Amino acid sequence: KVPPTITNEPVKAFAKGDARDWDLLRASLLKFNNAALEVPLVINGKRIYAEESGKGTRAVVQQVNPANHSQVLANVTQASPEDVSSAIAAASDAKHAWYSLPFYDRAAVFLKAADLISTKYRYDMLAAVMLGQGKNVHQAEIDCVAELADFFRFNAKYAEELYAQQPTNGAPGIWNSVEYRPLEGFVYAVSPFNFTAIAANLVGAPALMGNTVIWKPSQYATLSNYLLYTVLEEAGLPGGVINFLPGEPQQVTEQLIASRNFGALHYTGSTEIFKQLNANIQSNLAAGVYRDYPRIVGETGGKNFHLVHSSANIPNAIFNTIRAAFEYQGQKCSALSRLYLPQSKSDEFLADLAGTLAVPDAKFTPTNTSTSAISGGDLHGFVGPVIHERSFDKLAAAIDEAKRDPELKIVCGGNYDKSKGFFVQPTVIKTTNPTHKFLSTEFFGPILTVYEYPDAEYAQVCKLIDETGTYGLTGAVFARDRAAIQTANDALRYSAGNFYINDKCTAAVVAQQWFGGARMSGTNDKAGSGNILSRFVSMRNTKENF
Ligand code: GLU
Repeated sequence: KVPPTITNEPVKAFAKGDARDWDLLRASLLKFNNAALEVPLVINGKRIYAEESGKGTRAVVQQVNPANHSQVLANVTQASPEDVSSAIAAASDAKHAWYSLPFYDRAAVFLKAADLISTKYRYDMLAAVMLGQGKNVHQAEIDCVAELADFFRFNAKYAEELYAQQPTNGAPGIWNSVEYRPLEGFVYAVSPFNFTAIAANLVGAPALMGNTVIWKPSQYATLSNYLLYTVLEEAGLPGGVINFLPGEPQQVTEQLIASRNFGALHYTGSTEIFKQLNANIQSNLAAGVYRDYPRIVGETGGKNFHLVHSSANIPNAIFNTIRAAFEYQGQKCSALSRLYLPQSKSDEFLADLAGTLAVPDAKFTPTNTSTSAISGGDLHGFVGPVIHERSFDKLAAAIDEAKRDPELKIVCGGNYDKSKGFFVQPTVIKTTNPTHKFLSTEFFGPILTVYEYPDAEYAQVCKLIDETGTYGLTGAVFARDRAAIQTANDALRYSAGNFYINDKCTAAVVAQQWFGGARMSGTNDKAGSGNILSRFVSMRNTKENF
């Protein structure tokens, strides 16, 4: 049975005196630092490298360190059209043996993988995420150790609860039972660069329920994602259950969703791509391509807000605002990017916020440790790189626009530099226009836009936040006044699938805050809850007469 008491994996502090943790981490960092890894495709448990002959030529894409873009971390083989076809066949061939296993044998793979990640492979995972995805040690810990292990463990527990749900009403001489079949087709998992834990859930949740999966990792997270795959393998995952298929996104996707065997899309990424995928899948469906209605589960963008009321604890609101907007350079889907301040508190708030941002590490990283041997820089530093040049250029262009636009004013930050890594300074921009596009456009980086509202117009500003939001992912209200909290709670009901009161709008914890939004932020299937598992099963009811 799944162990009865599962708790959230503790986050290691990596404090100054934790010498053993640092030594182990340094060794892992040096390992990835010194040689680029050759990353293959894995189809039906078989590794396929670019140079192999017989299946056409395969491209290779490099993953570089975003803090030092001349450093190549991985050479990643890209799937050819023949490989995509092989993956579809492998997923179909592996299906029966996998779902015929008793549930506990499937769960054991993920429970064991969680343990391997939190022990034997902890430092390798951290290093892969830090170097490859530009995280500091704390951001890496909460992602690829804690949240990742939590997803595997809690999903196992939730699956057990789901399977136990059976028809409750019967009649004499009749036995009703429900079987939770996996979906008939394969699950296509498209994972993002920003959380390796999300990749683990995108592939792990459907596989746990007996599905087979084809996994296209983000090219900017391949190193850590491949490591995760190898850990799953060591934990006993049979070949063909999860097929690791890095490749050119459009080519791979078009081919997979054109398959009659396509059963579900499990996606985290941009709103724009998700909308396009929905449209393509619907048109294939209308054309009779599929056997089933494909399940579509997606988590996409956000334009997440903090609303500060004049009754708020201001230092608390400032601290949480900095963390929500700028931790991991604002590259969480949940990250804060629009801030509404009451005019009576705004000057004090922004002056204090700018002062803290000028030396953020003093406040946020008291255990700074020198690691100059490791390229990628300061392991604790508050400000890291953004993920790639495209993102850097987009953010730099937004900052330049803010410098020109008379309705915008830069409060602090505003510098950027890509000579070595893709660095963008945490930037706060004020606008006088409550409907300015900077308050509704997602930049996915360290840019925070502020609007100062007259204190007396609090209720109207709640409405404004709701009306200017095409997204509905996360948001927070900071207030001591209960009536003010209630007003926000009502007015912003659909503006955030994760709503916080006096806390930052990021850092949902598995099984504590069920994560996912509505509107253009996704299908509202909550990661970190048991609900998402039901999207990857197809139920059959059997009635038997005795
Ligand atoms: N679950 C994470 C959080 O609450 C964000 C996940 C994401 O970026 O998609 O901060």
